[in-house]
Amino acid sequence: MKALEDRIQQEGLVLSPSILKVDSFINHQVDPAFMQLLGREIARHFQGKGVTKVMTIESSGIAPALFAAMELGVPMVILKKQNSELLKTDVLQTEVVSYTKETSYLLTMARKYISDEDHILLVDDFLANGEAATGALRLIRKTHATVAGLGVLIEKAFQPGRAKLEGQGISVFALARIGSMDESGIHFLP
Ligand code: 5GP
Repeated sequence: MKALEDRIQQEGLVLSPSILKVDSFINHQVDPAFMQLLGREIARHFQGKGVTKVMTIESSGIAPALFAAMELGVPMVILKKQNSELLKTDVLQTEVVSYTKETSYLLTMARKYISDEDHILLVDDFLANGEAATGALRLIRKTHATVAGLGVLIEKAFQPGRAKLEGQGISVFALARIGSMDESGIHFLP
């Protein structure tokens, strides 16, 4: 998506050869009108595929997931990264290694928000090593729900996330695919 690539070029900061900072419009401050366009674009890709729920991981996936869910007219479910006092019984949990924080967390979901008939669209901000999405898939597989695919804003295509997910039969859609990045610039794949 050209508009997203342009915005990344203008505002993205390459913190290291593998970390991109887009805090001015995605991860810290959010541009709602622009985010709505991005969420809609993901929804349109999966339109007509029988999606009954959009699922995301707190916190940066929430904004695009909400707009995608709105466009598809379905609920959005937020997977939690920590144990909550309010989430004690009947939860599904799995451990995930965090890419940016180099720690792990317990991905947690109340069982009642996913039914065996659900067909789920996963949405997240970034796809890097595919650990977060694979964790979400592990939770979904504890039920009989099915997965329509994964939609992300930014895929770092030089990292193995897409291969990991496609290897599990998951359809991956990214609005911007970064082929490489360094201090000289950010290079997108078609
Ligand atoms: P993965 O699980 O695919 O390795 O990493 C995906 C998660 O890590 C995303 O949910 C995102 O929050 C975070 N992430 C991975 N790479 C980057 C990056 O380059 N920049 C930012 N801001 N977040 C990232």
